[in-house]
Amino acid sequence: MAVTSPLSNFIGGDWQRSSATEYLDVTNPATGSVLSAVPMSPVQEVDRAVEKGTAAFAAWRRVPATDRVQYLFKFKNLLEAHFEEIAQTITKECGKTLGESRGELRRGIENVEVACGIPVLMQGYNNEDIARGIDEHMIRQPLGVVACITPFNFPGMIPLWFLPYAIATGNCFLHKPSEKVPLTSAWLMRLLSQTGLPSGVVQMVHGGKAVVDALCDHTDVRAVSFVGSTPVARYVYSRATASGKRAQCQGGAKNAAIILGDADMEMTARIVADSAYGCAGQRCLANSLAVTVADAQGPFTEIMREATATRRVGYGLDESSEMGPVITPEHRARIERLIGIAEQDGARVLVDGRGGVVDGFEGGNWVFPTLLEGVPRGGTLATTEVFGPVFGMMHAESLEEAIALVNGQVYGNMACLFTSSGAAARQFRSEAEAGNIGINLGVAAPMAFYPFSGWKDSFFGTLHAQGRHGVEFYTQTKVVVERWPRTWTRKF
Ligand code: NAD
Repeated sequence: MAVTSPLSNFIGGDWQRSSATEYLDVTNPATGSVLSAVPMSPVQEVDRAVEKGTAAFAAWRRVPATDRVQYLFKFKNLLEAHFEEIAQTITKECGKTLGESRGELRRGIENVEVACGIPVLMQGYNNEDIARGIDEHMIRQPLGVVACITPFNFPGMIPLWFLPYAIATGNCFLHKPSEKVPLTSAWLMRLLSQTGLPSGVVQMVHGGKAVVDALCDHTDVRAVSFVGSTPVARYVYSRATASGKRAQCQGGAKNAAIILGDADMEMTARIVADSAYGCAGQRCLANSLAVTVADAQGPFTEIMREATATRRVGYGLDESSEMGPVITPEHRARIERLIGIAEQDGARVLVDGRGGVVDGFEGGNWVFPTLLEGVPRGGTLATTEVFGPVFGMMHAESLEEAIALVNGQVYGNMACLFTSSGAAARQFRSEAEAGNIGINLGVAAPMAFYPFSGWKDSFFGTLHAQGRHGVEFYTQTKVVVERWPRTWTRKF
């Protein structure tokens, strides 16, 4: 796809130049070069898109589900046909390695595949003769125009946690991508437009806070799906629900891994390092904290030190790179500041990734993998989402003490345990206060047919993204109770 600069909005089936007065640069985080410019669209462009979506909804909701999914089959085939080009776009604007970009796109496509089962997934249920001659049915109907606001770290996957379910159930979908990574979203819209979807069924308006506020406030937007940091998730949830919408808002994380002494240490350190440093730590399911229990401390620390120091950092398009840059220079500065605070708080830096530079890519936002031990309980590093390649370690004497540390977090996105004990695993999965649990796994990402179950300050709402939760979120139930006495009908 040739990148148009500045980027356009996709409204009513047309690419429309925004009337924005402010544009932001879209920058390659590994090279510092400017890829494009994204408009901070005015509210009137949101209004226009909602109007187009509302008009399209009347006909779209009446298209049989079996016909609606034909567009998704075409979309899936187009995503496969352009898979490598999209993966490269993700790497260029987001910084992650090509392997990571391919991985996220694959997880996104899986949601398109699951939503193709909507004729079954959106079925209701019924009872004949709930009383003599009276039947009762529950049917699911779409809501109308639904909006989605996404973060920078998974531009190929996160929009697809929502879009396929929303349109398969008969809604019209309006996306506000992250202003930092709008190019992948433009790819998705371009391919969707090639499927022949009626105009207005999928739309995209670029922008920032003003667009988000307009989507939350607009009376014709019936639902808001959000993924991003916790303060913004909380804000969007309050604002969207205040205007009577349903909302599902996924927030930040501080994911801990408990390491027991009976774990396979080689395997554990490899998995934990991949979780902590993959995507440069910019994953909401990154392990960022270890709690070693009893005799796990010594061996885990040594292997983790080696795994941290030897990770190959470089440009994501170079297939030999194991980790790319972080998203912006400001984010790099924040990460380095947090490492400094942890040091002042008493943590020891075992591997220091501050000030790292990749030869030939001096303009990139590099933070190399960083490992700290003795992270003080309750301190800044133990409680703050760093969202970078920084891994802290603390110690506990028992599994119970370690679980209490995990449960002391305000976040509840994911918690992991490494052990060879089934009894320990059983206790942990029952008692850990997180919605996604990994046992001998470092990134417990639910498949498309399971809900992405954040808890506590990692999620605001009831129904999560993906699978059956997505179908329920994007439909309203209608219950019909009916009586058809034989005496009212002509005899046949
Ligand atoms: P962010 O909160 O800065 O931005 C997310 C979206 O909100 C963007 O589209 C942005 O334009 C918009 N936004 C930003 N500030 C806003 C404001 N004040 N008012 C209204 N809208 C605003 O998040 P980010 O930096 O793009 O993404 C990283 C965060 O997302 C991390 O905290 C990460 O944990 C989280 N995340 C969570 C999940 C999950 O499933 N829980 C998944 C991915 C990322």
